[in-house]
Amino acid sequence: MTRLLELKGVNSFYGNIQALYDISLHIDSGEIITLIGANGAGKSTTLMTVCGVVQARDGQVLYQGDPITRVSPEKLVARGICQVPEGRLIFPELTVQENLDMGAFLRNDSDGIRRDMEMCFGLFPILAARRKQQGGTLSGGEQQMLAIARALMAKPRLLLLDEPSMGLAPLVVRQIFEIIQKVNAEHNTTIFLVEQNANLALKIGHRGYVMENGRIVLSDTCDRLLTNEQVKKAYLGL
Ligand code: ATP
Repeated sequence: MTRLLELKGVNSFYGNIQALYDISLHIDSGEIITLIGANGAGKSTTLMTVCGVVQARDGQVLYQGDPITRVSPEKLVARGICQVPEGRLIFPELTVQENLDMGAFLRNDSDGIRRDMEMCFGLFPILAARRKQQGGTLSGGEQQMLAIARALMAKPRLLLLDEPSMGLAPLVVRQIFEIIQKVNAEHNTTIFLVEQNANLALKIGHRGYVMENGRIVLSDTCDRLLTNEQVKKAYLGL
C-alpha cells in the first residue's frame, strides 16, 4: 500500500486562534479513513488544511510524499485531491448536468468527461432522471449526491467528504454511505470522511481518528473503535 497523505505535527490557526494542535495522521491508497468528533472539534479545519483552504502554520502536509502546505486548492484538485464541503454548495441555478460539467473544469478530455458523467449517472440514477433540473430544486439528499458526483468528475485520487449525512433522513444517509463504499471499492478512490454520525461512519471506514478540542485523541481500526468504551459512551450514545 502506498502512503497517499500524511500530516505530521500540524498546527492550524484562524487569525490568532489555534484550531488544530499537533495533528498527525496518515491515509494509505485505497483506504476509507473516518474522522469523528463533536461540534467544533476541528474536523472541518483538518480537511481544509489538507485541501489548501487553511494553511498549516507548523508541521507538514505531504501528498504522495511531497509537501503541499503552500499549494493552492486549484492545483491540488489537478493533483487529485478534491473536497465535498459541508453544506454541499452546488450551483443552484445550473442544471444537474451543468453542475457535473463544472466538476470537470480542469479537464479537456471530452470523451473521458462523457464517460465519467455516465459513470456518475450509473452511481446515482436519480441524478440521471433529473439531469436537466436546476440543482437548487433538488432535495437535500439529491444535492448531496450531486455534490459527490461533481467531485468525482474531477477524477480524484483522494476524496474529502465533510459530513455528507448532515440534515438528511436515515434512509438517504444509508444510500449515500453505500455509494461512498462503492466509489472506494470500484473506482479506486481513497476517502477521507469527516462525520458526526459516528456509528455509520465507523461501519464503512477501515481506520478512524477521534478528535477532541483540536487534537487527535484516539486512532485505531474502525472495528476496534466501534467497541471502544470511550467511543461508545461519547459518540455512539451507548
Ligand atoms: P462541526 O462538526 O461543527 O463542523 P468541526 O469539528 O468541523 O465542527 P471546525 O469547524 O473545524 O470543527 O472548527 C474548529 C474550531 O475552529 C472551532 O472552535 C471553530 O469555532 C473554529 N473556527 C472554524 N472556522 C473558523 C473561522 N472561519 N474563523 C474562526 N474560527 C473558526
